[in-house]
Amino acid sequence: MLLTARYVLPVSGPHIEHGAVLVRGDRVEAVGTAAELRAAHPDEEVTEFGSAVLMPGFVDLHTHLEYSAFRGLVDDVPYTRWKMQVVEKQRKLDAADWDDSAVLGAMESLQSGITTIADITNSGASTKAATAAGLGGVVYREVSTMERGRVAEELEAAGADIEAWRSVMGDGPLRVGIAPHSPYTCHPELLQGAARIAIDGGLPAAIHLAGSKDEYDFVKYGSSQLAQDFRQQAGWRDVAWMPTGVSPVRYVLQWGLFDVPNIMAVHCVQVDEDDVEVLASHNVGIAHCPRCNAKLGMGIAPLKLFFKHGLTIGIGTDSPASNNTVDFFDEMRIGVLLQRGVSTERDFYRFFTARTFVRLATTYGAKVLGLDHEIGSLEPGKRADIVAVDLSASHMVPTDDPYSALVHTANQESVVMTMVAGRVLYRDGEYLTVDAERAVARAGEIQMKLRG
Ligand SMILES: [Zn+2]
Repeated sequence: MLLTARYVLPVSGPHIEHGAVLVRGDRVEAVGTAAELRAAHPDEEVTEFGSAVLMPGFVDLHTHLEYSAFRGLVDDVPYTRWKMQVVEKQRKLDAADWDDSAVLGAMESLQSGITTIADITNSGASTKAATAAGLGGVVYREVSTMERGRVAEELEAAGADIEAWRSVMGDGPLRVGIAPHSPYTCHPELLQGAARIAIDGGLPAAIHLAGSKDEYDFVKYGSSQLAQDFRQQAGWRDVAWMPTGVSPVRYVLQWGLFDVPNIMAVHCVQVDEDDVEVLASHNVGIAHCPRCNAKLGMGIAPLKLFFKHGLTIGIGTDSPASNNTVDFFDEMRIGVLLQRGVSTERDFYRFFTARTFVRLATTYGAKVLGLDHEIGSLEPGKRADIVAVDLSASHMVPTDDPYSALVHTANQESVVMTMVAGRVLYRDGEYLTVDAERAVARAGEIQMKLRG
């Protein structure tokens, strides 16, 4: 199959005008100009996208597909109050609700051009939804408890789920990982145990880390709303918690989680340069969630420090529960604008470009997951995870810089095709692996339950 468009963005190299990508089976076989590939493969079936960009699919480094039906439910409160309200409301859902909410998330991912997810779940709903939809990436089994006496059973349950989810995933493009939720919801022995499971089993690991100031104050000083109201709500009020005197990053370092070879920290807003040095020296990848961090009042992550210390970084959406959509164009656009907003014109080194954000959204994100040999750019031999983004709408013309158009102009409605491993999963508003009508209807029912 030969895909052609006005622009092909391999991301790993310069863009090609009037370009083409040759797909054979689940692989990219060749990338070049449409003229040369048509001449070399005259009998190949051609799909012409016209005034569009063909590029590698987006890597959403942080999501929770199963929370998609929470969209708009808790919109105008800062992080800790948001978290408390979500935890209270989520008790109303049953297993079928979580499953269908995850289907909605998988559907929106495809529409947004996301081909790889890094999803954290404890219900396993995302495993089923992402597998059925055809998405690739990692589904992390979340673990959490502050009670020392429950650590062993939590780890045992996680081990059983990991095995079960592996058989759901089969030999498709998804794999399983483990994710202790955060420093404020995990007993230190749980952090240690999760690290051991990841190291022994060769699994990737992830943790929400240094997101809100409340988390920072809770870990370092033992105070904040997380220390009181949240712990009471979670039933951990009587579990001892002493101020640690260190930042969340240094606290997690003490319990060995950064010894996991493929470890990703999500958010990392409340960090200083010493913390960033710790993250860099342990090769911790960062899931940067600019829109969620801003919306919940967590702050703006110091991206220039991350780059200065050579961290591996990608972009995450953190699901519609906090972010309202998983529109990856919004994520790139808001991400670059926030960084420029806290920069200065003179500081050219810190003036982030559209090109950098397209790399964060694709090839750099793939590197965080250790999948950059397989995905993240359009190169012969890599998996055919390809999206087509239309640039012909009136608000998109004229354009002669595809990077600029993707970051400053396009949105998720601009995506006209999403392909994973050579399979078209979404095309011109149609979902080929998801029952979209049912997913939308169920979303309304689930949210009525949440609001009731
Ligand atoms: Zn999250």
